[in-house]
Amino acid sequence: MLIDTDRRLGQNNYYESSVQRIPAQALDGDKRVDVLVVGAGYAGLSAAIELAQRGFSVAVLEADLACGGASGRNGGQAIVGYACSQASLRHYLGAQGAKAAWDLSIAALELIDERIREFGIACDRVHGYLQVADSVRKARALREEFDELRDWYGLDADFIGSSDVGRHIDSARYCAAVLDRHSGHLHPLKYGLGLLRAALALGVTVYENTPVRQLRRGPFLQAMTGSGCVTAEFGVLAGNCTLESWSPGVAPELTARVMPVGTYMVATEPMGEDLAMSLLPGNQAVCDNNLVLDYFRRSADHRLLFGGKVSYSTQTPGNLAHSMRRRLIEVFPQLRDQPLSHVWGGFVDISMNRAPDFGRLANNLYYLQGFSGHGLALTGLAGRLVAQALVGQAEKFDLLASIAHRRFPGGTALRMPALVLAMLYHRLRDKM
Ligand SMILES: Cc1cc2nc3c(=O)[nH]c(=O)nc-3n(C[C@H](O)[C@H](O)[C@H](O)COP(=O)(O)OP(=O)(O)OC[C@H]3O[C@@H](n4cnc5c(N)ncnc54)[C@H](O)[C@@H]3O)c2cc1C
Repeated sequence: MLIDTDRRLGQNNYYESSVQRIPAQALDGDKRVDVLVVGAGYAGLSAAIELAQRGFSVAVLEADLACGGASGRNGGQAIVGYACSQASLRHYLGAQGAKAAWDLSIAALELIDERIREFGIACDRVHGYLQVADSVRKARALREEFDELRDWYGLDADFIGSSDVGRHIDSARYCAAVLDRHSGHLHPLKYGLGLLRAALALGVTVYENTPVRQLRRGPFLQAMTGSGCVTAEFGVLAGNCTLESWSPGVAPELTARVMPVGTYMVATEPMGEDLAMSLLPGNQAVCDNNLVLDYFRRSADHRLLFGGKVSYSTQTPGNLAHSMRRRLIEVFPQLRDQPLSHVWGGFVDISMNRAPDFGRLANNLYYLQGFSGHGLALTGLAGRLVAQALVGQAEKFDLLASIAHRRFPGGTALRMPALVLAMLYHRLRDKM
């Protein structure tokens, strides 16, 4: 069962062990606000901040703890662009629309730094990102994408050929890289809890341990929970793919548009500054360009945080620590004797075309989903765009909302096998 798996894995989450949480309050009784937000991940908290700054009263309803979902478990990599390619965005939005979408992804990165400054969020922010290729074919694909992004979209980055890759990463696995100095990384839960504190300081009420079980629609929305009801003129659904498992009846239209895919991370024990620095002297975030990708980076306390592996069944893969360790050692054999301290995972909301899925279910009910494993930066901007849309400046929201999405074939029951088959095909291609 999705939620059980999610919770169990959350217990050994390195990020949770490195923060102090604010005591949570649950909803008790009936409340009335201008806007109710379902989900206190980055998307919901960002929307709440932006709405409060525009004078709305806002209540955020969170089934678990704020940033207890993907926003408190992720790789911490804040990367320009989208999970889908720019070519895919050109297909949906045309050349001009795809350029506008690219610029929005840059604005999403800038918004992280703006919020860190504005709200004083200490979250170990580092700039610098390496995308790496582990085969000649993948290096060619990386080069082609780099040329396209530089020439058409103004990507400010350097291509690094095989003879120089070793200066940036002490691994024999990679034969090419792109060094992007604007993308980078941070401690995702410190950042998320910083957004929570900012929202609270702006007067937003955040109810944790408060799953919305039912949402009545109409000129006024009513979010029913086990312990009360919140009534609001507007609503924002920011529940990621876990919305379905907490409350299948809240927005059934959204269910087959995204698929929950498990992805996993490990942290090593602290290894000391010298060894950590020798692995990645520039302290960049790293991600390869395979379909099922490895992503990793150094932490501020000199661990390696390593992510990869996926599960389409919502079940935790057996022997996870062992298989993650094997992947890590394939990249850095010098860490063969380095113990792991934490193993955890979470779910990403993959849309069929990997493009974000934003829209309206009614003229007073908005949704944000489909970040497809690339939501750290984009969720923040999504919150801003939905708030702008609510005050009549919907141009940017509508640009992304105009991307056409198909449902996973077979609806809720059969979407899993369809995705597994497609992914198997692409993984075989990666291996070959
Ligand atoms: C292991 C992992 C690694 C990742 N690495 C990266 C990365 O390096 N870079 C990157 O860009 N992205 C990464 N991602 C993706 C990124 O974390 C997500 O795109 C982003 O956090 C999504 O934010 P969100 O607010 O939409 O969802 P979430 O953070 O999942 O928040 C949704 C919230 O809604 C709540 N909710 C759901 N249903 C209800 C209900 N009925 N009532 C009340 N509350 C409800 C949930 O409890 C949850 O807290 C990763 C994800 C995972 C899991």
